[in-house]
Amino acid sequence: MTGGKTDFGVIGHPVSHSVSPAMHNAVFAEMGLSHRYDKFDVAPNDLKKALDRFEADGFLGLNVTIPHKLAVREHLTDISKEAQLIGAVNTILFDEDGRQGHNTDGFGAVAALREAGLELHDRNILVLGAGGAGRAIATQCLLEKACVAITDVDERKAYALAVELSDKTEGIACAIESNPETLKPIIARTDILINATPVGMHPDVDAAPLPLDLLHDDLAVMDVIYNPRETKLLAAARELDCTAVEGIGMLVHQGAESLNVWLDVDPPVDVMRKAALDAMAATEA
Ligand code: NAP
Repeated sequence: MTGGKTDFGVIGHPVSHSVSPAMHNAVFAEMGLSHRYDKFDVAPNDLKKALDRFEADGFLGLNVTIPHKLAVREHLTDISKEAQLIGAVNTILFDEDGRQGHNTDGFGAVAALREAGLELHDRNILVLGAGGAGRAIATQCLLEKACVAITDVDERKAYALAVELSDKTEGIACAIESNPETLKPIIARTDILINATPVGMHPDVDAAPLPLDLLHDDLAVMDVIYNPRETKLLAAARELDCTAVEGIGMLVHQGAESLNVWLDVDPPVDVMRKAALDAMAATEA
């Protein structure tokens, strides 16, 4: 870290687990930038007061995590097209025009897929989970002109998201029932399968979001879960020699894009990845 006052941070509730300070402070040190990034536990009722205080204190930017990604929108001056489509904000830029809301989660996921050598244009993508991460990823994939199918254990949720995104973007998304019989022929025609559910996350590391015998060797598989780094789903994909994309990639690239929004820089993602992994290992120790 190169010193300076804290002018960036992440707000959430709880937020103690966040590795974002490690990632961002590693970039500031590497690039010789005199900024500091910290984490702030903000209770839902204190959100407006907290934003006013960060702005008055001269903060340049914030990341926003659970449970504030939706509620924060009413306290912003402007919201980017992506964040409007996704319906959530994970990045705030404070500038002379006020508070600008962005969402870099979908961008981060797509950047992680590209980093693994995957292209999205005209590809068949199946997103498991129509929650916050699934919305961001499905939206960005449609903006990248992919063909998107969405499934969720709550089928109404998947259907509502597919209809909403088909209305709001130029792409077409469809909803798929989540039972294995329906998923099987869909997955047979899928190029990229993305788990955007929490199934398989620590401590339930033996769980998988779908029967693993539905995987095939022409699939690429991404898991948004980054704890553990290698989920049961990713391990099964690797067994089949599929391209396997870890959730840490999305985490790092959403953070890198936040830095780009705030400071117009192209940060060293490998430095961010190492800092995030080191911070996670330190938490587990
Ligand atoms: P969320 O809002 O709770 O959404 C998850 C959705 O998946 C819910 O609708 C859930 O339904 C559904 N679901 C659960 N099991 C399923 C299954 N087997 N098949 C299909 N759908 C299923 O959670 P989220 O905020 O999107 O987060 C999801 C995961 O992404 C978490 O593990 C989070 O840590 C991770 N994440 C990672 C990054 C990153 O940068 N790598 C960023 C954001 C989030 P129910 O609600 O009915 O259970």
